[in-house]
Order: sequence, then structure tokens, then C-alpha cells
Amino acid sequence: MLTEIPTTFSSLQLSDEDWKYKTERSEGCCLGLKDGVCLYPRGKVLGGSSALNAMIYIRSYEDDHEHWVKEGNVGWDYESVLKYYERFERGGLNISKIREDAQIREMIIKSYQEMGFQERSDTRHLGYTDTPFTISEGTRQSSAKAFITTIKERPNLYVVLNAQVARLTFNAQGVNGVEVLINQKLIKLKASKEVILSAGAINSPQVLMNSGIGPKEHLQSLGISIKKDLRVGEHFQDHPVFHVLLDVDEEFLRPRSKEQTIDDIYQYVMYRKGYFANNPMVNFLMHLNTNENGEFPNLQVNHIPFPRNSREHMKIFYTGFNYPPDVQKAIFESNEKNSNMIIMLKNLKSKSLGRITLRSADPFDYPQIYPNYLSDDQEEDINTLLYGVRFIQRLMKTKPFADANPQLANLNLPNCEMFQFDTDDYWKCTFKNYVTHLHHPSGTCKMGPESDPRTVVGPDLKVHGVAGVRVIDASIMPRIVSANINAATYMIAEKGAELIKEEWSVRHTEL
Ligand SMILES: Cc1cc2nc3c(=O)[nH]c(=O)nc-3n(C[C@H](O)[C@H](O)[C@H](O)COP(=O)(O)OP(=O)(O)OC[C@H]3O[C@@H](n4cnc5c(N)ncnc54)[C@H](O)[C@@H]3O)c2cc1C
Repeated sequence: MLTEIPTTFSSLQLSDEDWKYKTERSEGCCLGLKDGVCLYPRGKVLGGSSALNAMIYIRSYEDDHEHWVKEGNVGWDYESVLKYYERFERGGLNISKIREDAQIREMIIKSYQEMGFQERSDTRHLGYTDTPFTISEGTRQSSAKAFITTIKERPNLYVVLNAQVARLTFNAQGVNGVEVLINQKLIKLKASKEVILSAGAINSPQVLMNSGIGPKEHLQSLGISIKKDLRVGEHFQDHPVFHVLLDVDEEFLRPRSKEQTIDDIYQYVMYRKGYFANNPMVNFLMHLNTNENGEFPNLQVNHIPFPRNSREHMKIFYTGFNYPPDVQKAIFESNEKNSNMIIMLKNLKSKSLGRITLRSADPFDYPQIYPNYLSDDQEEDINTLLYGVRFIQRLMKTKPFADANPQLANLNLPNCEMFQFDTDDYWKCTFKNYVTHLHHPSGTCKMGPESDPRTVVGPDLKVHGVAGVRVIDASIMPRIVSANINAATYMIAEKGAELIKEEWSVRHTEL
């Protein structure tokens, strides 16, 4: 039930609807988080991660697709993919903007205007905007809601819940089905045409590797016999995120009273309107580029208000990002004294590459996630975030923002005590320790021509050199798009569906 109510989205993490993955420990990122790892939530529910995501809906950009085409992905240029976006935006999926009347919205708009920014539009990609959400009439619209509920009576559709695919099965021609665990029994399901793998960027590579399709040396080390040596699981990308905590005056961010909350519940239960029909955490976005001539964003910013004494709410937020108890304590102490605003800085064009590997030959063992955030040679990822922090400091100096008396909260972070607060070195240390991610895994079954040894599927989404299987999910992105990736994943699905239909309708005619 909680997946339906937009406001409760962050309490879905670590619930039964979450696979509750964690990254592996590394020397370069997530160091200051609990146990030195980032949490990695994934939807374990019909609709997948779209049933627990923050519902932000932003399409990919022209320059994302220019890059995809440059890497040999014919048919994936912006002009060509637009029709797929338009198809489901006009069809099953409803996208809404919820304009908040909060004083803070006005203040942020005026501050950005003072810095010379305008509202983002279809042609102006940088600037501020009320967030487009996959929320329909006050209710989350997951992919299951948007695309399956409407066709659930079709006789040729059968959905099995609580079923986990172990691996693909093969005959002499190629893939001919899957082995799947249902009610504690491993059974084989046969495909009469082809298998479509859509387990997401953590689990599609896992299923392929369980099936012997993956990096030879890795599979051999686990005793898995090789069907095809491909760089499955490599080229992992995400959008790293860093939270800047500001102290602001209490009268600027007023706590919601109990009476107001009761009214909010009434409004939601009766009319699906008001506070609970919204995701106030991310309901205002800013897009910018660290290069002053840049036309497309490489940084996304949102502003989360936490009025004084929001401890319980903050706890859900910071626990979801695995902040350790001592850092959380320092944050709550700050929130007892004043109101806070968290500014989320999200690097949309991260260069660092991570990897998914198998933990063991057991197909149900959790895969290993090595995100390698901030590991690019030129330190571009770190410098983008540093730009973001300095940008926020300029924002804090604008007249409307300055009226809220904002101060960077100095939490005396244990791992960065050796650096003077607010120096570049201090921030670089905090990034290595507290950068997490937007839960946007992608690229682990990278799409590209067979001649490119880094790729796993071709532009028709078929796995290179293995007949009878396609991958259709966020894992095929040749490079992560510079937007929250759910919209682009739907686009990939819509185009993938068309590729399948095109192929089989031709074959049908031939017969
Ligand atoms: C907390 C959170 C917040 C996010 N916020 C946003 C946001 O605001 N905007 C945005 O654009 N994106 C957001 N995302 C990301 C976005 O939701 C995902 O990137 C998107 O859903 C990816 O789609 P997918 O089909 O590739 O994978 P998924 O949606 O993860 O779907 C994979 C499905 O396969 C199932 N599965 C996995 N393994 C197996 C197996 N072996 N057998 C059977 N089934 C299996 C999973 O249970 C899941 O249902 C967020 C994600 C999370 C987790």
C-alpha cells in the first residue's frame, strides 16, 4: 500500500519491497558510511524499481543520444527515440507537475533568477523547474500501474509473482527458455520464440553470468562453464550524489503542526490531494552545466526542507543513504537548534566505471556491486561535485536566500577532521566518504556493435553471438543518460517492444 502514496517513498527502502543490496567495500568511495558501504535499493515487486523510486520523470537529451550513435548504435538517435517517448506519454503513462505554494519555492526561484537563470523548458535544458512526476491523480504510477494493469486481462499475458529466474536454458540453436524458482521449486519454462531479459542493471548481468555468458576469466574462477565470453557486468554507471547540509532560520522553514498533518491525511484519503499526493523532497529541480557554454545539464540540484525537530523524517532519509549513527547524531543535534535544508548535488555525467560480478556459482546469491564512484583518472567526477558546492555557496549569497540566514553545517565529520572546514581538500575528503548515488545503475550489458569488445548487446538488443535472447532494461545504456533514468528505460522498453514486433511480424508473413 505504501508504494501508492507519493510522500512515503523513502520509507520503502529497506522494506520487504526492496532487495536490500549493498555495495562491496572499496578504497575510494562510500568510506564514511556505515560499514564502509553504500546501500543499493532495488524494487522487489511488480513494477520493479519504478514502484519505489522518487518518481522524477525527465527524458534523456540530444547529446546523450549523439554519444550513443557515435558508439555505433544505429537507430538510437534523438529524433528516432522521440516517437517512443511520445507514444507512452500520450498512452499509458501520466506525468504531472505539482506546484507547491510554499514560501521556499518562491525564494528559490527568485534566488536562481538573481543568478541569471530562467525556467527550464523543452528547448532550454538548463534552469529551474517544478518536477515532472510519474504521479497520476495523487497516486504513484509505477510501470506495472501504467503498462500492465490496463492489459492484465489479455489471454496471452501471464504474470507470476514471487518467481526468481536462475539462468537461461539452451538447446543446439541457442537460448530456449529459463530455469525459474517458484514456490521453492526450480522449474523450466520454454520459450517458443525468444527470451526477453529485463531484470535491471544489477540482475540482468547476474542472470547472463549465471548462464555462462560473461567475462571468461571471472566465470572460470567460479567453475561456471562458458557459453560466450562477453564483458557482461562491466561498464557499470550511476549518478553519484552528495548531500550538502545547511542550517537555516526557523521562521523560514516552519514545522508542520499536528492539526495540519491531520488535515493533510484527510485531504489525501478523501481527495488524493495535498501534501501526501506529492514528493516534497524532490519537488523542485535545478539543472546546470559546470561549463558556462554547456547547453545540456551535467549537474542536477534539489532542495529538501527539514524544519526544526524533523528528526524522524531525517532519520529515514539518512538511514536510506546508510549514514552512520555518529554522523546522524550530529545532524539531529543541528536540527534541534534550527531548521535545515539539504541540497542534493547529483553528477549527471559521471565518468567512473564500476562492475557487477557474481559472488558465487549459486544463482540466488546476491551479486557483488563495485560502483567505483569518483575513480576517473582526471578527477572530473570529484571536480564536478566541488563546482556544485561552490555553486551552492553562490546561491546562498543571493538576496532572497541570504534572508534565510543559511550556513553550511559543520558536522566535524570523523574521517575528514584533518582538513580545514570548507577547503577544497575538506570537500574532496567528504566526497570520498559520504558520496552515495541516485540508484540509477546502468550500462552493465552495454549496447554497441559486435566489433566493440566492451559491448554485450547490439542495437537490436540481442546478445552478441547467442541466439534467442535480448536484454531490455537500463543495463543496455551505452553511456548513462544525463537525466533520472526511469524515463529513458521506458523509452528503451518501448523501442525494444517494437523491435520484437517488427522481427516476428516479418517472419510470420514469410511463413
Ligand atoms: C529508491 C529509488 C529512487 C529512484 N528514483 C528515481 C527517480 O525519481 N526517477 C528516475 O527516473 N529513476 C529513479 N530511480 C531509478 C529507476 O526507478 C530505475 O532505474 C528503473 O526502474 C530501472 O528499470 P529497470 O527495468 O532497468 O530495472 P528495475 O526497475 O529494477 O526492474 C527489474 C525487475 O526485475 C526483477 N528481477 C531481478 N532479478 C530477477 C530474477 N532473477 N528473476 C525475476 N525477476 C527479477 C526485480 O525484482 C524488478 O522487479 C530510483 C530507483 C530507486 C531504487
